[in-house]
Amino acid sequence: MKDKKRIYLSSPHMGDKEFGFVAEAFETNWIAPVGPHVDAFEKEFCELTGSKYAVALSSGSAAIHLALILLNVQRDDEVICSSLTFSASANPIVYQAAIPVFVDSENATWNMDVRYLKEAIQDRIKKGKKPKAVVLTHLYGQSADIDSILEVCNQYNIPLIEDAAESVGAYYKEKHTGTLGKFGVFSFNGNKIITTSSGGMLVSGDKDLIQKARFFATQARDPAPHYQHSQIGYNYRLSNVLAGIGRGQLRVLEERVKSRRANFEFYERELGSLPGVQFMPEAEFGRSNRWLTCLTIEPSEFGATREDVRLALESENIEARPLWKPLHLQPVFKDCPYYGTGVSEEIFDKGLCLPSGSNLNGQDLQRVVKVFHQVYKNETI
Ligand SMILES: *Cc1c(COP(=O)(O)O)cnc(C)c1O
Repeated sequence: MKDKKRIYLSSPHMGDKEFGFVAEAFETNWIAPVGPHVDAFEKEFCELTGSKYAVALSSGSAAIHLALILLNVQRDDEVICSSLTFSASANPIVYQAAIPVFVDSENATWNMDVRYLKEAIQDRIKKGKKPKAVVLTHLYGQSADIDSILEVCNQYNIPLIEDAAESVGAYYKEKHTGTLGKFGVFSFNGNKIITTSSGGMLVSGDKDLIQKARFFATQARDPAPHYQHSQIGYNYRLSNVLAGIGRGQLRVLEERVKSRRANFEFYERELGSLPGVQFMPEAEFGRSNRWLTCLTIEPSEFGATREDVRLALESENIEARPLWKPLHLQPVFKDCPYYGTGVSEEIFDKGLCLPSGSNLNGQDLQRVVKVFHQVYKNETI
């Protein structure tokens, strides 16, 4: 059935302004990691999210890395990190030769459980080392319970980095995710809710820190007419061409959130009453952007596993994916400390992400639902 049109998990969806901004970059010859679109993208992003200061970067990973550098994370330091997340949340901790300490999820939001966070901090302190920072992911566009997490961070005076890479357009109470910690990190990679093909943003309420981030992101050049360096820098700035795409994408963000939420509601309506199928919960305190529609399948009730469903979808040329495999189970992080009771493991074992792009049409969504029902009824496809 490979002749059927491929349905992707989450593909880029341009509006009608992006190309004009890119053309403007060409016409004015600002083809560099600096220029008017970069400045405007930062300013417009701040306005949209309520961030105070922002620096546009080449990726979300670069943003996390710079946040850790600015918090002075160094060799053998420990940094607490959500376990149920993409590896890019934790990789920059290792770039600094520091050690990730993973913390399990709660069932209510699938995000970091504040009880295990507290346990981790207390135990690390008891073992002789206070964690240098906390990297908190807002998973699949669903805000973590930030107030209670911040309370614990503040109690121990540990700075919070919000990994809001997946949660552009998602809110905690009335505040945009990523604006409540010491730093917020956003990604505009190709499969995110809005994209610049690749790109990221680091935000903070601290002007000085963002100025320093800009310095480190442009090879740490000291002020001098020649090239003068007293510190090691990075080439982490966003291209002015790509910032043009970003400016266009910001203008359609709210529409994209609405479409993704509508996808979720459609799937939930069509599949939510099947035995053993449970959709990712949405916490009362916020608005998820429903970047990806995620659900869990209990095989003993549904009569098939999430992998059966995924393979059936694939045979119909439909891309679905398991959830992120918890980082404490990843071979590369196997020696890192972990605090929890297996909540993230169970979510991973049963979890599946369905095609969720804002550019899917009704027919695409019907195709997904049909396969799902066929697997449930045990029909061969
Ligand atoms: C995508 C993503 C990142 C990394 O962003 P890039 O722009 O791809 O470097 C970090 N954390 C999470 C949770 C992500 O989903």
